[in-house]
Amino acid sequence: MFKGVLNKMKTEINDNVNYYLELGDDFINLNQIINSKLELNFEGYQCLNCSSDIQIYRQGHCKKCFFELPSTADWVMKPELSKAHLNIEDRDLEFEKDVQLKPHILYLAYSSNVKVGVTRKSQIPYRWIDQGAINAIEIAEFPNRFLAGVSEVELKKYYADKTNWREMLKTSQSTVELENEREKAFEKLPVESSEMAKSNNFSTFKINYPVLKYPVKPKSLNIIKEKSFTNELVGIKGQYLIFKDETVFNIRSNEGVVISLNIIKS
Ligand SMILES: [Zn+2]
Repeated sequence: MFKGVLNKMKTEINDNVNYYLELGDDFINLNQIINSKLELNFEGYQCLNCSSDIQIYRQGHCKKCFFELPSTADWVMKPELSKAHLNIEDRDLEFEKDVQLKPHILYLAYSSNVKVGVTRKSQIPYRWIDQGAINAIEIAEFPNRFLAGVSEVELKKYYADKTNWREMLKTSQSTVELENEREKAFEKLPVESSEMAKSNNFSTFKINYPVLKYPVKPKSLNIIKEKSFTNELVGIKGQYLIFKDETVFNIRSNEGVVISLNIIKS
């Protein structure tokens, strides 16, 4: 039996994505337990910052931490709100400079349709894996988060910026030629940003997930409400565990929830 607070799964890429879940002092390679029956139990909450056991508010944090921490400020979700390049503080200027004033990548990723996104260069390809993208391509590299963010805002006129989780989980193949799409996207960038853009790697990056059976009608597990769930693990995609009965469990959106896990070998 394993027990601990949920944090998003760590990944590494080989032929397939390898998934690791840290629970308490244990580090579990989840690929090895695909085909096993798992029992998950809700055990409470633990804020990822202050360890308080009060209810999680958002992104693995209690309400107080969510509104105070520099890592959960608005510019994280909306890169165009970044201000460190102007030397303006939001919550903690040192932290913001450290994150925002690094090379950022504007990209297209295909999960069930083409979406546009921004991430720190060091997060590639992990950001794409977390979204469950089948493939992805860089549009351009920018010297900071703000420039990548304003370019994304422009491209949102033409592309989605959200992933539909249900469609993502059902999709196993891409139908879009990302290299052509990338060229079209680059031409749509405003002149100010395309002048700042560095073009690196235009080849499509492909990602294979360890999924034995894709769900046809995925239904989301609410472990807080259900308290306990037992079924056979048949795959992992994005940050979701996929079970044989088509129940799916989003690890990321349950960050800060304490669970116990029993692996019942089949
Ligand atoms: Zn807290």
